[in-house]
Amino acid sequence: MTFQPHTIIEPFRIKSVEPIRQTTRAERAAALEAAHYNLFLLRARDVLIDLLTDSGTGAMSSAQWAGMMRGDESYAGADSWYRFEDAVRRITGLTHVIPTHQGRAAERILFGATVSAGDIVPNNTHFDTTRANIEARGATALDLPIPEGRQPSLQHPFKGNMDVAALEHLLATDRARVPLVMMTVTNNSGGGQPVSLANLRAVRAVCRQYGVPLFLDACRFAENAWFIREREGDWAGRSPRDIAQAMFAEVDGATMSAKKDGMANIGGFLAMHDDDLARRCRDALILTEGFPTYGGLAGYDLEAIAVGLDEALDEDYLRYRIRSVAYLGDRLRQVGIPIMEPPGGHALYIDAAALLPHIPALEYPAWALSAALYLEGGVRSVEIGSVMFGQQPDGSERAASMELVRLAFPRRVYTQSHVDYLAEVLTYVHGRRDRIRGMRITSQPPALRHFSAHLAPIGGTLLAL
Ligand SMILES: *Cc1c(COP(=O)(O)O)cnc(C)c1O
Repeated sequence: MTFQPHTIIEPFRIKSVEPIRQTTRAERAAALEAAHYNLFLLRARDVLIDLLTDSGTGAMSSAQWAGMMRGDESYAGADSWYRFEDAVRRITGLTHVIPTHQGRAAERILFGATVSAGDIVPNNTHFDTTRANIEARGATALDLPIPEGRQPSLQHPFKGNMDVAALEHLLATDRARVPLVMMTVTNNSGGGQPVSLANLRAVRAVCRQYGVPLFLDACRFAENAWFIREREGDWAGRSPRDIAQAMFAEVDGATMSAKKDGMANIGGFLAMHDDDLARRCRDALILTEGFPTYGGLAGYDLEAIAVGLDEALDEDYLRYRIRSVAYLGDRLRQVGIPIMEPPGGHALYIDAAALLPHIPALEYPAWALSAALYLEGGVRSVEIGSVMFGQQPDGSERAASMELVRLAFPRRVYTQSHVDYLAEVLTYVHGRRDRIRGMRITSQPPALRHFSAHLAPIGGTLLAL
C-alpha cells in the first residue's frame, strides 16, 4: 500500500516573502476611527490578514513572473496578445476575445452595446459592479437565485443555481425587455456558491427557446468547475479543464475579471461568438480602453493572465484552495459560529444576522461584525449586506436579503497557520458578540456607498471591553 496523506498541503513553496505588520488594539482603534469605520478606507499597512477581497490580491507564480519578462509591449499585434487570445480561446472556445483592464470594463462595454433604458437583465445574482453598470444604463438588474440560495444555513450542493421557472416566467411575459441573460460562476454575491452544469444547461434551453443570448460572468470559472467535479455525479473525476470547456460551450459569451481565476493582479476580458456584437464592442473598447490587441493592459499583464488561466485549472491548486476555505468553515462550525453553508469557493461567509440578532438590519450587523474583527484581530473582511445593497436608485433604503461578512481568500497568499489565527480571532469576537453595537451612516455617496461611506457605532463604542 502506498502512503495516503490526509493533510492537503499548500501546493507551492515560497520564493519571495512580504512581511505583514502586527499592530496593537489601541493602534487599530485609532485607525478604525480615522477610517470612519469603513474598512475600505484603512491603510493596508495597518491590516494583518487582508481578506477584503480575492480580487487582484493573489500571488503570482514563477512562471507568471517569467512570462512578464517576456511581455511584448508592441502597440499592435504583440506576441503577448496572441498568447493571451490563445489561452482564452483554449478554455472558452469563444470566437472573439476582447481584452479589458478589468471585469467591470468588460461589463460596461457589453451593456453599452446591448442594454437600453427600461430593459431587464436577469442573473442568478448580480455582482455589485454588474448591477451598477446595468442600472447606469437605466435598466433593471434582476436576481433570480433558487430559493435555497437565500437561506444561509441550508445545505445544498449548488446554491448558486438560477431559478429556471422564474426565468421562464420573465421571458414568457417580458421577452422584449430582456436583451441578455447573465449567469455568475461562482455566485459571488450569493456566497461564492457554484452553479451546476445541469442548471446552466436548463437556463441555456430557456434562453434558446426565447432567442435570448446567455453570457457567463466567468470570474471564478475554475472554482466552479472544481465544485462540479466534486458534486455533480456525471462529472466526478473529470479534469477541471474539461468541465470549464463544457460550461463555456453552453454560452454565447462571457465577461471575466482576470483578477480572480486569471490569477493576475489586473486584467479581464469580454468574449463572444456574435461577429456584429464583437465589432460594436471593439469600437467602444478603442474609445476608452485601448486598441483591441491590448485593451488597457500592458503586454506583461497579458502574459501573466495567459499563464494564470491555465494555473487556475490545476487540480492540486484547486484542491488546496477549496479545502482552505472549507477548513476555516470546519473550525467555525465547531464553536457555533453561523456560516453560510456550505463554504464557498473563494470565501467563507459569516451569517451576521444570526450571530448578532440584537442588531436590526438597518443598523448594519454585518458591518459592525467586520469592524469588530479588525479591531480585535487586525483582520480585514467585507460586509455583504444592507450597507452594500440597501441603497435604492431612488435614494431610499431597504434591508438586504442577507447580512453577511465575507472572508475572501487571496490566491496562494496565506498558509494554514494564518487560517488557524483567523479561527482564533473569530472565536474570540464570537465570545463577545453580545457587546457589539449597531452602526449608523454619517455620510454617503449617491451609489456604491460601501466603498466610501462614513459610519459610526451607535452609542459611540463599537465593542465595550
Ligand atoms: C470582481 C467581479 C466583477 C468585476 O470585476 P473587476 O475586475 O473587479 O472589475 C464582476 N463580477 C464578479 C462576479 C466579480 O467577482
